[in-house]
Amino acid sequence: MSDDVHEVYAIHYGHHDRPAAENYIGGDPHDVLQPLDYFVWAIVGKAETVIVDTGFDETVGTRRKRQMVKPVREGLNAIGIDPENIETVIVSHLHYDHCGNYDLFPRARYHLQDREMEYATGRCMCHAQLRNSYEEDYIVAMVRKLYRGRVEYHDGTDEIAPGITVHLIGGHAKGLQCIRVKTRRGHVVLAADATHLYAHMEQGRVFPTTYNLQEVLEGYRTLKKLASSPAHIVPGHDPEVLARYPAAKQGLEGWIVRLDADPKSG
Ligand SMILES: [Zn+2]
Ligand SMILES: [Zn+2]
Repeated sequence: MSDDVHEVYAIHYGHHDRPAAENYIGGDPHDVLQPLDYFVWAIVGKAETVIVDTGFDETVGTRRKRQMVKPVREGLNAIGIDPENIETVIVSHLHYDHCGNYDLFPRARYHLQDREMEYATGRCMCHAQLRNSYEEDYIVAMVRKLYRGRVEYHDGTDEIAPGITVHLIGGHAKGLQCIRVKTRRGHVVLAADATHLYAHMEQGRVFPTTYNLQEVLEGYRTLKKLASSPAHIVPGHDPEVLARYPAAKQGLEGWIVRLDADPKSG
């Protein structure tokens, strides 16, 4: 494996059963469930392991009626990752399901977009509807990290390590970023909430939590430009990800999958 080629893992930790209609602006004509799954991602390279997003914890999950399937720490341990050793965490955005467990990586520096911290601590948070997806303690924890020199800001596109870049998308949250990773099968894009489900980007539909509709729609084009093919884009909340990709190893089926492996066809 050359220095800029990485393994990429999706680690499933949470679940929410909900009607399909709740996932789209304008609803959905089908009276069916379309659950959301919750993930963190690990990018494993020769030089270091980079974590993308840190999930929510049990307390916040319970309060928000989201099911904790497996704590994030357990998922990391299952593929041999010790959170104590992690030095780099990329945060796609600061919604509660992406930046909790804030004590889990005591040595890490956190990488996020300027616009996301400005959003999460600025005027927009005067509005309950925009504030709703943020968790007060998680934001305060990030501010504390900032004051301890553990936050690094990015404005637009930036390189985190050879083969790993971040790209501002906005749309769903003002400073949402996606992550592009060089792998053995080409450039994989971790979309996070730039597309919750495959259906959003494939059908040009939009998740109801939205800061800027135009940026959401432009974001779908950006994802496609960055990825080696549409099959290289990994949605942030689609249970289908666990079906399309092979387990990281035997026994981890439905829990941890390998995104640098070719997806199963169909
Ligand atoms: Zn979000
Ligand atoms: Zn999310």
